[in-house]
Amino acid sequence: MLSKKDWKNQWRLFSDYCKMGETKTVVCMALTCTLEAVRPYVTLVLMGYLLDLVYAGTDYRTMLKYAGIAFFYTFASSCIESFCHKRYNRKLEYMFEQQSYLMNQKCLSMDYEYLEDKKVHDKIFQIAQSYGGRFGLMGDMLSEWEYLLRSGISMVAAVVIVFPLFTEVTSIRDGIVTSWLASLLLCALVALATFYNYHFDVKIGAVVRGCQEEKARHSNGLGYYMNILASYDKQKDLRIYHQEQMVSERTDAAMDALDAWTNKEARSRMKSAFVKQTVSAASGLAVYLFAGIRAFLGFISVGSVVTYAASIIRMTTSMATLMQHLAHLKTLNPYIRDYVEFMDLGGRKYEGTIPVEKRKDDRFTIEFSHVSFRYPGAERDVIHDLNLNFTIGNKVAIVGKNGSGKTTFIKLLCRLYDVTKGCIKVNGIDIRKYNYREYCDLFSVVFQDFQMFAFPLGENIAACSEVDKDQALSALGRAGLTQRMLELPDGLDTCVGKEFDERGVTFSGGEKQKMAIARAIYKDAPFVIMDEPTAALDPVSECEVFAGFDKMVGNKTAVYISHRLASCRFCEDILVFDKGTVVQRGSHDDLLAQGGLYRKLWDAQAKYYA
Ligand code: ADP
Repeated sequence: MLSKKDWKNQWRLFSDYCKMGETKTVVCMALTCTLEAVRPYVTLVLMGYLLDLVYAGTDYRTMLKYAGIAFFYTFASSCIESFCHKRYNRKLEYMFEQQSYLMNQKCLSMDYEYLEDKKVHDKIFQIAQSYGGRFGLMGDMLSEWEYLLRSGISMVAAVVIVFPLFTEVTSIRDGIVTSWLASLLLCALVALATFYNYHFDVKIGAVVRGCQEEKARHSNGLGYYMNILASYDKQKDLRIYHQEQMVSERTDAAMDALDAWTNKEARSRMKSAFVKQTVSAASGLAVYLFAGIRAFLGFISVGSVVTYAASIIRMTTSMATLMQHLAHLKTLNPYIRDYVEFMDLGGRKYEGTIPVEKRKDDRFTIEFSHVSFRYPGAERDVIHDLNLNFTIGNKVAIVGKNGSGKTTFIKLLCRLYDVTKGCIKVNGIDIRKYNYREYCDLFSVVFQDFQMFAFPLGENIAACSEVDKDQALSALGRAGLTQRMLELPDGLDTCVGKEFDERGVTFSGGEKQKMAIARAIYKDAPFVIMDEPTAALDPVSECEVFAGFDKMVGNKTAVYISHRLASCRFCEDILVFDKGTVVQRGSHDDLLAQGGLYRKLWDAQAKYYA
């Protein structure tokens, strides 16, 4: 059965759902289940009673009264059920999205290092596997609980109604069929059938889940291949290298696999349905025999036979349903466990509380003191015992070969990762102590893999929907997009890309890079960091960026990363990175005069420009 931890995890998923303001939905579900479970029994009891009244020749007014009660109850109960059910079903339809939303929110708030961690990716993938179910993990669990609750209440109601059947007159004269022993045997038989069904369900459930996981895996693959075939930006490579066949073969293989696993799942389900129906029919037969013989011997009335027999049948089917859905719930548990582990991943960077000093003069000092860093799970440090500080207002360039740790250095500075050893201080305070959101406000960064979204241009630049138009236009101008702005159909309201707006514009890589620079300028933070900001630019634009760099960043402290040394000559302070540490520092002329790695890199690159 389910362990204590499993129940706790399920409770956690429930409460996460309720915290999204969905307590009413859960209440609606519970109310629907209760009414749906109880209604047939109330009708059965009233019908049995009516039959007895007919049999006893009672006057028609009393019978009409009971028929009226039965009608009114059924009508009122059905109305409430239908109202609650509609509301619950409506919510169920987008529980998949709600769960994804919750997990995405978690991605935004957890430590960045987890996002680059393969184990976390695997966990998210595993949780997504259970989306083989229609409503996502949350909806699937709630649906299972809907069945459990309905069948549990149904069973309790049946026990209350049927109880007298076993306790009414049992004497030696009743014979074996009405004795306690017979009652117990009947109960044992029904329980045995139910437990058999449960174990069969657990077994089949595991097979079905396995099939669903395989199906999800293959449909992911299929989605990927379909995307390749359907995306026009991939067509150039497909055609030039004749890769169509390669992709088509893989698509066919994925479709065959999907078909095979779907068939296997269907066969398992059919087998399960057949066995369960047979077992249920056999136990139903035993119940009818038992109640029938009791009536034949004259210990119960005709009306009671109907009520008791139908109630017992309902009880056995409810018990079977309960067991079946307990088994389903059990198969969901590994995913629920993954979900809880994922949701409990830490957010250490949010522990700092000290507010960042607000300074109009942007006088913030940065100091790296004996900083070493190793990526989680990696075998070696990528930053070694790094010591340095930035002079306020300076333009600093960081150069070095690929893989020397330049980008990692920026990630540490922006606290996307925390250092493994040593500490980074801003104005003398360890950056881990600062309120993280306020700390982020200190930096404008243009990452190599910057992202622009399919929103209006102005909102992309302002990074929010409240756009200061003058500031946005000025930032775009400083980033070199003045001319392009004049050509845009809707100015700052032009959508980036055509995903949501046909009038949207597809910008080139270089134009997007300039937009990323404009967004950094717009933010107006004390530190401006640019990681290979000219990689996608043509030589003229690159020259414009260099020439305008001072104007772009004004008197802010700026860090400019590039492996192209010629791009960095204009910075008065150049740091040369090698194997995760600074091996040289100085101006371009000083470094050339010093010889060493800078000179070697410069000579190697200069011959291509000669
Ligand atoms: P650079 O920017 O100088 O090219 P990086 O800072 O990107 O270098 O990378 C430094 C080293 O860290 C490289 O060996 C790279 O493979 C490794 N590295 C980068 N990101 C990760 C990561 N998320 N996990 C593990 N290793 C990484």
